[in-house]
Amino acid sequence: MAFTPEAQAIWDKVPEETRAKLLDSGFCTRCLATRHFDLTEAELRNKELALIGKCGTCGARVVRLVQLN
Ligand SMILES: [Zn+2]
Repeated sequence: MAFTPEAQAIWDKVPEETRAKLLDSGFCTRCLATRHFDLTEAELRNKELALIGKCGTCGARVVRLVQLN
């Protein structure tokens, strides 16, 4: 997996249950539906954690942004 160090540090602190929920709530722009996705990359974008991966249904790229507090 290609995580930036900053993204990795944040992801490491996310509880397992929350991780599972986040990875089940990506929006696939090809399926036009909320899908589970396989995480491949993560990075910080402004004040958000961007989780990037592949749709579990069609394989399209999915980006799930998580607001950081
Ligand atoms: Zn899809």
